Amino acid sequence: MAKQVSPGVLALRKVVDDVYQEAREAKARGELVGWSSSKFPCEFAEAFGLHVMYPENQAAGIAANRYGEILCQAAEDLGYDNDICGYARISLAYAAGKRAARKFDPETGEYIIDPSTGKPLKDADGKVVIDEATGKPKKDPKTQTPYMVLDDLNEINALPDGVEKERRLAAISQIKQMQIPQPDFVLCCNNICNCMTKWYENIARMHNIPLIMIDIPYNNHVDVDDSNVKYVRAQFDKAIKQLEELTGKKFDEKKFEQACANANRTAKAWLKVCDYLQYKPAPYSGFDLFNHMADVVTARAKVEAAEAFELLAEDLEKAIKEGTTTTPFPEKYRVMFEGIPCWPKLPALFKPLKEHGVNVTAVVYAPAFGFVYNNLDEMARAYYKAPNSVCIEQGVDWREGICRENKVDGVLVHYNRSCKPWSGYMAEMQRRFTEDLGVPCAGFDGDQADPRNFNAAQYETRVQGLVEAMDANKQAKEA
Ligand code: SF4
Repeated sequence: MAKQVSPGVLALRKVVDDVYQEAREAKARGELVGWSSSKFPCEFAEAFGLHVMYPENQAAGIAANRYGEILCQAAEDLGYDNDICGYARISLAYAAGKRAARKFDPETGEYIIDPSTGKPLKDADGKVVIDEATGKPKKDPKTQTPYMVLDDLNEINALPDGVEKERRLAAISQIKQMQIPQPDFVLCCNNICNCMTKWYENIARMHNIPLIMIDIPYNNHVDVDDSNVKYVRAQFDKAIKQLEELTGKKFDEKKFEQACANANRTAKAWLKVCDYLQYKPAPYSGFDLFNHMADVVTARAKVEAAEAFELLAEDLEKAIKEGTTTTPFPEKYRVMFEGIPCWPKLPALFKPLKEHGVNVTAVVYAPAFGFVYNNLDEMARAYYKAPNSVCIEQGVDWREGICRENKVDGVLVHYNRSCKPWSGYMAEMQRRFTEDLGVPCAGFDGDQADPRNFNAAQYETRVQGLVEAMDANKQAKEA
């Protein structure tokens, strides 16, 4: 039976699905579709009524659907280094026309099923059916999926119309992230990292399309100086002019104000949702928050996103009153999960946490999208405050605030091979968390998109170690 989800979650799913579908339809009508970095001020594109897709979100979805390795490898085969962020590799491969497609058997005319996929088959009493020959659980054929192979959209498009072309187009994975239109322009803001700049420059060059860039450099100070604000405001003005040239439309102040109002409404509702993790037991987990990142990235300047997050906040208030939670085990320990999850390995991440009763009640990645401001200067300041563009003092302060408010017993740090700017200062942060908060920390190696960089055995051992340290800490406090 399908898992029951709350009205807010359903509304949020629809928001993202609609954004993707509208972009596909717009492209088919010959309208412009852009690609944007997640922390580019989306309010500008929204004011111009542009359809925009978000490659980071797309890459996360592709990775969560287990196609990260195919596309990362495809990018490497195109000459992009294995050390480049996995999101960038996936996106660059996609931009070059590479697609994950179902493997086809020309003799049978069927897709070839990968025997390692699928859920265990259960009998009428709900018991797992064991295969007598292997002694292992049998797979439910209804849940099994075909092998995925790499195909190339440019090659397919060059084929003459006919059966072969149709078959190869149909074999491309049907997930929405593998069906986004190619870009007509790109919007890049490097407040997250500088990999972003090169990534978007490459896409712009590959497709010979305009790149609208907002440069927000790393800030060595906790405060954002007036000169920084001036620098970014001037770029806002330039971006508006470029968008006017691109669309042939005049900038509409009223539409922009409405987009900003929507974005602020979304941000406030999102931060409220993030804050509910403070309750004990938490009505949901940090993993649920990660699942809603797609909305806050793809649609935060749309009224539908604001409404859906407000609905989700109501659902959570109700859950707190009723003492319910989406976490399917009793909460024994509360931890902060530091960094981006390993999307291709979510079940493997979750399993040992569940076994030990560890609930993720604090995350840094999610509230980082809560941009709240009242005017353009404040907007420039807000976009300056992205996790990788702030100094270590600010970074520690944010995290320790979240850890205290959300009452964590420990911190689990993802040393994410893809995201070097994030992982680079984590060792010092770990040291400070333990010194300042008196909580143990454990780190594990992984990757947000490339499954080759994650080792389940190492992760399990680190979680086990963290649990033992949290237990010892608890006992010492009680004594
Ligand atoms: S911030 Fe990290 S994860 Fe995001 S694009 Fe940059 S390197 Fe990749």
